[in-house]
Amino acid sequence: MSDKKKYRGKDFIRQMIHHDVDSGVNDGRLATRFPPEPNGYLHIGHALSICINFGIAKEFDAPCYLRFDDTNPAKESDEYVNSIMEDVKWLGFDWGNDLAHASDYFDSIHEFAIELIEKDLAYVDSQTSEEIKNSRGTLNAPGTKSPYRDRPISENLGLFDRMKNGEFENGEHVLRAKIDMSSPNINLRDPIIYRILHLDHQRTGSKWCIYPMYDFAHTLSDAIEGTTHSLCTLEFEDHRPLYEWFLDNLDLPTRPRQIEFSRLNLEHTITSKRKLADLVVSGHVSGWDDPRMPTLSGLRKRGYPASAIKEFCNRVGITKKDKTIEMSLLESTVREELDSSCNRVMAILNPLKVTIKNYPEGETEMLDARNHPKDKEMGSRQLPFSQNILIEKDDFMESPNEDFFRLSPGAEVRLRYAYIIRCDEVIKDENGEIVELICSYDPETKSGTGTSNKKVKSAIHWVSSDHSVSGNVNLFETLYNDPNPDSESPINQNSMVEIHNPAFEKSLVDAVVGSRFQFERNGYFILNTVEDERLSFNRIVTLKDTWAKIQKKKG
Ligand code: ATP
Ligand code: MG
Repeated sequence: MSDKKKYRGKDFIRQMIHHDVDSGVNDGRLATRFPPEPNGYLHIGHALSICINFGIAKEFDAPCYLRFDDTNPAKESDEYVNSIMEDVKWLGFDWGNDLAHASDYFDSIHEFAIELIEKDLAYVDSQTSEEIKNSRGTLNAPGTKSPYRDRPISENLGLFDRMKNGEFENGEHVLRAKIDMSSPNINLRDPIIYRILHLDHQRTGSKWCIYPMYDFAHTLSDAIEGTTHSLCTLEFEDHRPLYEWFLDNLDLPTRPRQIEFSRLNLEHTITSKRKLADLVVSGHVSGWDDPRMPTLSGLRKRGYPASAIKEFCNRVGITKKDKTIEMSLLESTVREELDSSCNRVMAILNPLKVTIKNYPEGETEMLDARNHPKDKEMGSRQLPFSQNILIEKDDFMESPNEDFFRLSPGAEVRLRYAYIIRCDEVIKDENGEIVELICSYDPETKSGTGTSNKKVKSAIHWVSSDHSVSGNVNLFETLYNDPNPDSESPINQNSMVEIHNPAFEKSLVDAVVGSRFQFERNGYFILNTVEDERLSFNRIVTLKDTWAKIQKKKG
């Protein structure tokens, strides 16, 4: 059977892996790895890479290493290492004992550098970094050879040893692979593989003052730890010949295969640790976990469930074509997930006072409300009803147009789970602002048990003001208005708006921080903090794709 038939329905990476495992490459063994550099927090793009690497390994019951690519001590820190571990765990993946650091391999990597020198495949270059850069050539012109390229092996060994022993300043010498200065692939024009850097490392302390460069360290880490498939993003496609050159020229325990896939980019936000770090440092956001950030910690704070992020990555899939995914795909995935799992409750974001003048003053009655319209198993709760209630300002219009079926003078509307009310009078303050509605209710229209068969066109949510809980809510839009922002783009001024005096139904006093609800007609929310009986919620996502509408309006 052809591979195509055999692996039908699988993405191209899974097809290649199945093929390699089935044909006994690396003894039919599989191991993948997720190799973040600990120089920032992980973002949604990393989630795709995590799902691919850990996901495939899981399908084969094979290891996936969480390997920190910690070769640049200038930008790396333990804070980032810890946040990365937390995020991978949060997504539900487990590296078990397979936790690794490129720095664990520094001794071996150093040995392999010596092996290259001994094979006359590496040399110490004493040009300045400027000279090295200028002699690299261009896409159209070959590079020029370094005057130090033909140093005898023994001299190279001696100099490299002295580099390691700290006898030189930063930048005085580098170690370069001796490949081909006229290669059409610039990555093969004698790339630097070791540099001097007098800087302590978060794990190895002051042991080293030379550090391997990314391509060298990455290839060797893969091969040393036994990774068989090194899955990375498309920008490394041009580095593959170098990856393979190292594998061809060194005596390594495994021969990993590099396969590239396209990066995940998301509209209206940025997926680059460096640019995200700029937002944090400049104070444009409150931190890496600001709920507007596309970081996994930000999305978690925003209330996105890990399962929805994994499902989103699954829907995005694995391709070879660079793409920028619409925000609506992420939001609809989150919405679908929350629809089935969240209890419904009522909360008024912009309250308007309503007094039901024919309802007995001081009386409270308890009404039964379902927690989920489609799932009886999720039970019900008791809602207090009284003469004084709050409705959304938006649910009243003094001069309604013909398709407004909610409350207006003389009109009737149903209060969900309660009664039908009619607006009898509108009270305004000295500025003409509506401050209160005087209404009357029809006692025969009680939800579920009422004897009246009166019908109205719409039902609105409400909260008894005598029994409500207060706090605040944060509403979000995307971080940028620009669908493809760069570092110059201004942040969307409405990316976070705080609502100061919402009213929540009483049952929410028992809610625990981190729990998620649908506020009827207002969206999905997560309880962020509780302080002095004040509840603070973040809106996770709206109920419908209002984003598309906002875009049109701004159009
Ligand atoms: P950044 O530019 O955000 O720092 P990076 O690629 O430098 O990204 P790494 O820490 O090196 O970040 O990434 C670890 C792994 O995650 C790499 O294999 C990388 O290819 C992958 N990755 C990073 N960003 C994305 C993305 N947007 N989509 C898919 N995979 C990604
Ligand atoms: Mg990187």
